[in-house]
Amino acid sequence: MPFKIPMSSPDLTDVERQAVMDVLNTPYLSMGEQTPAFEQTFCELTGVKHSVAVNSGTAGLHLCVRAAEIGEGDLVITTPFSFVASTNVLLYENAVPVYVDIDPRTGNIDPQLVAQAASDLAEGGKKAQKWLPRKGSEKKRTLKALLPVDVFGQPADYASLLKVAREFKLEVIEDSCEALGATYKEKQAGTFGDLAVFAFYPNKQMTTGEGGVIITNDDKAADVMRALRNQGRAPGDTWLQHTYLGYNYRIDEMSAALGVVQMKRLDELMNKRDRVAGWYNERLSEIPGVEIPFVEKTTTRMSWFVYVVRFDAKIDRDDLIKRLEAQGIPARPYFAPIHLQPYMVERFGYQPGDFPVTEDVGKRSLALPFSGVMSEEQVDTVCTAIREELTKV
Ligand SMILES: *Cc1c(COP(=O)(O)O)cnc(C)c1O
Repeated sequence: MPFKIPMSSPDLTDVERQAVMDVLNTPYLSMGEQTPAFEQTFCELTGVKHSVAVNSGTAGLHLCVRAAEIGEGDLVITTPFSFVASTNVLLYENAVPVYVDIDPRTGNIDPQLVAQAASDLAEGGKKAQKWLPRKGSEKKRTLKALLPVDVFGQPADYASLLKVAREFKLEVIEDSCEALGATYKEKQAGTFGDLAVFAFYPNKQMTTGEGGVIITNDDKAADVMRALRNQGRAPGDTWLQHTYLGYNYRIDEMSAALGVVQMKRLDELMNKRDRVAGWYNERLSEIPGVEIPFVEKTTTRMSWFVYVVRFDAKIDRDDLIKRLEAQGIPARPYFAPIHLQPYMVERFGYQPGDFPVTEDVGKRSLALPFSGVMSEEQVDTVCTAIREELTKV
């Protein structure tokens, strides 16, 4: 049965449609003027020196890992409560993710555990061992970097994380793929680490279809990433000269043109999502057994990416999903812990119980239909259905 409310929708106008048409009326469908224009909008938003546009957030994160020279056997502290891409890019380079559990309120990586892990790993021996996976990390081990994720559009606790990074000389790669436009202590998401990535899949705050952008103040990293996205061609290389082993991670001009218009509308897009989240908060905070999303008001300006509620442990979430679906309302578990994905269990030997907060939050969380174009009536429909189904049991 088709859903009567979509899980997410892009927010597009005729201005975006015209911008894409304009590109289609030129011969320049790739490597034209739109890509640098799109990149420029991120330098303006964040005040960061370089912006490198690519064809997905995952590609962007992968280039960050390459630019930070993270490779075989290197350790990177990161979170199991994320979309798989933040871990996968480490595996592409045979690095080892060192997971630490999350702050149960925000779902972001717990900075105290990060500090503990970094100091134990520096000490080595038994103490280090307890942070490492059961298998798959036997090779040379150097703690190289920290890869926090700004979960659901709320920046991680960078004040604490940067202290640890400084003390242990760790490169910081921010997965800000869910947090474009958010602020932490009035600074833009993505501006805390050495490298950061935003993503533009159609369910994100703004979209290019597929796409991503890396921002950094590091001149050398920016040069390397520009070369790597373009088949390893360094500045001065001809079309068939390839200084590095590169990729085709280029964004096309239609996507970039779409992105230029969406970036102009970013405030509007964020405000509309904020309003929809407000409608949800109002209605859901009155329903027993439902917990609305926690926002750390003292630090965060939220950039709403998804709207994720949590249920009391006694509510059968998976059954509720089925009953909402029967009413034409989609809803999804979000996130499913990464360490328990089959390929992670096989490679590193993870077991249920390894990251109890992540697992508990993962089990009780549900992403509801959400976008900036959702109407108040649609929010009403979802909330009424949840209320009804919860009182039925
Ligand atoms: C969306 C997202 C990405 C990147 O996704 P792409 O589909 O590759 O653009 C990476 N990390 C997180 C946490 C995300 O939500």
